[in-house]
Amino acid sequence: MNIVVPIKQVPESSNVKMDPETGTVIRKGIETVVNPLDLYALEASLRLREQHGGTVTVISMGPPQATRALKEAVAMGCDAAALLSDRRVGGSDTCATSYALAQMIKTVGKYDVIICGERATDGDTAQVGPGIASWLDVPAVTYVSKIEEIEDGRVLMERLVEEGYQQISTSIPCLVTVVKEVATPRLPTLKGKIRSMELNIPVYSADDIALDPKYIGLKGSPTKVVRIDTPKVTRGGRTIAAQDDVSIEAAADEFIDLIEKKGLLQ
Ligand SMILES: Cc1cc2nc3c(=O)[nH]c(=O)nc-3n(C[C@H](O)[C@H](O)[C@H](O)COP(=O)(O)OP(=O)(O)OC[C@H]3O[C@@H](n4cnc5c(N)ncnc54)[C@H](O)[C@@H]3O)c2cc1C
Repeated sequence: MNIVVPIKQVPESSNVKMDPETGTVIRKGIETVVNPLDLYALEASLRLREQHGGTVTVISMGPPQATRALKEAVAMGCDAAALLSDRRVGGSDTCATSYALAQMIKTVGKYDVIICGERATDGDTAQVGPGIASWLDVPAVTYVSKIEEIEDGRVLMERLVEEGYQQISTSIPCLVTVVKEVATPRLPTLKGKIRSMELNIPVYSADDIALDPKYIGLKGSPTKVVRIDTPKVTRGGRTIAAQDDVSIEAAADEFIDLIEKKGLLQ
């Protein structure tokens, strides 16, 4: 079973600044981590390998420091890793990102199941997984909570839907995006960490994987960020302090008056 897991390196905190010119995140000098929801995709892939044998290859598209995220995945147990890093893919929207990752997957080699996280905590669009599937022309199943069995070239799964769960199966090769319910991510092992330090992670440029410049980067992205506004939080209000039983009574009365005046009390 050839399993490929695309993971994204994201800012550690939500306190990110956007470049008003390009509409992209200013990534210089900020702490980064493996996209927390990709840890579930990594765990699901390692369990699939334990059940069916084969290899798990983790890939990423990002700046050179994204190698650190790949090493974390190797320390969890992935067999191989590869990075696509090239200034020309900088600023790519989800269409351009999924095109580049699909080309990367073709270059990495054989793939039976591609497992993505539900979404990235920074862009938060959940579009890249299905995008990769469409560029590779393979079926995509999203929000998978359980991979039940793989038999006769078909994967039987359970996915999370608004009304509950849905059982679904599709043919291999396919792409799935997984939710947290799929499995609890394991911790990297010491043996894994040592291996991640020794492993040579190939870094591909856009030319190495024959990316068409028309489809990558800011220019190759159909999504144009027109304007970025940081919403101004104008919450007025005041604090009604109460130190003892008497003042609590008074505070409660004042609060009831307030919400009554605002017509909030039915
Ligand atoms: C605040 C913000 C808003 C944005 N809004 C939009 C928008 O509306 N439309 C748009 O097209 N772009 C948008 N972008 C750009 C978008 O973030 C990038 O295109 C990004 O590369 C992929 O989209 P995503 O972060 O939403 O990932 P998602 O689609 O949420 O990621 C889903 C999964 O795809 C895989 N994946 C995603 N990115 C990578 C990667 N670089 N390497 C390997 N695997 C990956 C991971 O498995 C991940 O769990 C936005 C970016 C930011 C920071």
